[in-house]
Order: sequence, then C-alpha cells, then structure tokens
Amino acid sequence: MTVRIGVIGGGQLARMMIPAAVNLGLELEVLAENEGSSAHLAATVVGDYRDPRTVLAFAQTVDVVTFDHEHVPETILRQLVAAGHSVQPGPDALRFAQDKLAMRRRLGELGVPMPDWAEVSNEDELEAFLADHGGEAVIKTSRGGYDGKGVRLVTRAAEAADWFTALNEDGRGGALLAEERVEFRRELAQLIARRPSGGTALWPVVETVQRRGVCSEVFAPAPGINPRVWELAASIATRIATELGVTGVLAVELFETTDDRLLVNELAMRPHNSGHWSIEGSVTSQFEQHLRAVLDLPLGATDARAPVTVMVNVLGGPATGSLADQYPHALADQPTAKIHNYGKDPRPGRKVGHVTVTGDDLDTVVFQARAAAALLGADLSEGAEDA
Ligand code: ADP
Repeated sequence: MTVRIGVIGGGQLARMMIPAAVNLGLELEVLAENEGSSAHLAATVVGDYRDPRTVLAFAQTVDVVTFDHEHVPETILRQLVAAGHSVQPGPDALRFAQDKLAMRRRLGELGVPMPDWAEVSNEDELEAFLADHGGEAVIKTSRGGYDGKGVRLVTRAAEAADWFTALNEDGRGGALLAEERVEFRRELAQLIARRPSGGTALWPVVETVQRRGVCSEVFAPAPGINPRVWELAASIATRIATELGVTGVLAVELFETTDDRLLVNELAMRPHNSGHWSIEGSVTSQFEQHLRAVLDLPLGATDARAPVTVMVNVLGGPATGSLADQYPHALADQPTAKIHNYGKDPRPGRKVGHVTVTGDDLDTVVFQARAAAALLGADLSEGAEDA
C-alpha cells in the first residue's frame, strides 16, 4: 500500500522533499497557501493552514502530517493529534520552535548554554536589560519571525516602541525577547534527525554566513572546526532533540563565541537552509532523512561525500531576472555547480534558488559556488552583514 506524506506549506522545503519521496516510492501531498506554489509539482491542495477544517480535511487524506514551515497554530495541531493523526513533529515539540520565549525558558530548564536573555514587556524593562548588558541588546518578537524579520539591534529602549505598541494593541499580554549581543567568531548549525522511536542521526557541523539577517552561504563541514566544538554541538543537539521529543529534522543554530563557547541561538523543526548542502554533499540528504524520520523508518548515513561542500543562496533582487533565463549562463560557466531553481517569482529578498559545489579544496569550491550564484544574480557584496 502506498504511504502518503502530507506536507503543510508549499515552499522550497516541500519542493525539495519531492525527489526523495519519488525515490522512496512515497506519495507526497502538499497543503499550499496559493496556486502555483514552489511545491506545485506534488499533488497539491490549496487552503489556509490557519483554518482547522481545512487542515483536518487535509490530514484525513494522508498517513502522516509534517511541515514546510512552523506556523500552523498549536490549537490546530492538538486537534489533529486528538483526532488520531500522526503529526511529526508533534505540538509538544513544535511549540518551542514557534515561540522564542517558550524555547528560551525550556532550554534554560535543560541547562543548555544560551545568550543572556530576558522577557521584556515594556520600555522600562528593556532599559534595565540594556543597562546590565553594556547598552546593547538584540530584541526579537517571540512569534512569527524568520530570515531576520523580527530581530533588531537596539541601544535605546525607545527603538522598540513600535513593537511594544503592537503587543499592547494585540491585547494578549505578550512580551519581547531581549538578548545580550553575542560577540561571535562565526555562526554554526548542527542538524539532527530523530525518529519517533528514538533513533537519531547527526550531520557534520556546518558554518553559516548571514547577510542582511538572511542565510547567505553554508560551508560543510565548518572549516577548521575543533573536534571538541563538534562534539559539544552534537551533544547539545542530541539533548534538545531527545528532551523536547522532536521528530524529523531539527536544526540547532549556534554562535561560536570569541572565547570558545557554543551558545544556542535558534531552533527549526523541519529541513533547514543550513542543510541544503546535504542533497549533493551527504550520503543522505536532509529531505530524504526527514521523510524517513517522520515515518519512523531506519535513518540513512549522514557522512559527507566530499571533503568540502559549499552552498550559496540566491535571493531575488534588482539583478535577478527569471532564474530559468539565467541559469544556462551559470551552467556553462561553472560545470561543477549544482543549481536548484525553486520556480518562484524573483521578488526582492525572496529565496529563489541555491547553488551547491562539492570538492577537495575549500577556496576552489567557494570560488565556483559564488561564481555560479553571482551569474544567477546573488548579491554577495561585503559589508552587508548585520543582525
Ligand atoms: P530568525 O531566525 O527569526 O531570522 P535569529 O534569531 O536567527 O532570527 O536571528 C537572525 C540573525 O541575527 C542571526 O543569524 C544572527 O546573525 C543575528 N543575531 C541573532 N541574535 C543575536 C544575538 N543575541 N547576538 C548577536 N547577533 C544575533
């Protein structure tokens, strides 16, 4: 009997699950927000993931429900579970990826290393946090942020006035997350997959580079990583996946500090941009592993296939026309580059594709991946990095 996987959300993550599903002989069905989604190549239903009836009707057509994004309201997830559907990851785990304050509180209970943080409900509380943290803080909206939206570096509490006003108008008594500004050497990510029955598999730790708050490049494995740091990242991710009961792929975003500590920044409970390199660079891609994990099938090997893999994102911008028009040039110029076109309109700032190159020499691989991405319109200019 054919096994049917239901993916809520029709973005590039759902799209990249399709080849893995085809190879494993699984049927993939997508609940997309709009016609013509990035994942329209799979059987697609168009509907609102915030509407309980739509989501319940979708769940009835599949064997397991999983996600392209983390925004399905917790109440709906609980209704699905109550109706007997397999939801992977389930609401008890997913709520910590939906709410940054809940995540900080829970990781605090587990003793996981994190930036200093506080829940701040008004300008006075933020002012007190600033005074205790050298006059700087990174403030974050607890819910709904992604790609650096909902993240702001502030030196005065008044710079958060609009967010506090929005919280008050919302009337639900919400708060902002305030964090110390971490002096990091670089950002790392540890991806792990976990089955409902408990087995886990970890990929090599990667380095991620953000430009304008968005993931721009990933180097796998993280160049020159100290084996002690790698072990620490693996133990932190394993502890989080196990204690929170995460199923499927979990990405743990980490800061490697200038004084050699690892601090957890963010969690994502789905395939993640920091794992796109694994399609060509690992024995088992994060997309295949996610499908295996949510079905509680044995996990695949996660070893790197080459000494170096580099992934470069392509964001829509003034220089990006249709990727379909531009990629013949990139293919001709960089024959080692593997180009992934998400089939989206190249609106400014939108992730429309990525390029991966594997090889033996970091400098060569970086050069080739950047050259191909630049031909597709990626803006890799320096001086663009900020929170
Ligand atoms: P999101 O994933 O919602 O976009 P993040 O919390 O990952 O938001 O923050 C986006 C980026 O902002 C991070 O990748 C990092 O570069 C920067 N950043 C976030 N928190 C801090 C912090 N406490 N100190 C320094 N930089 C930070």
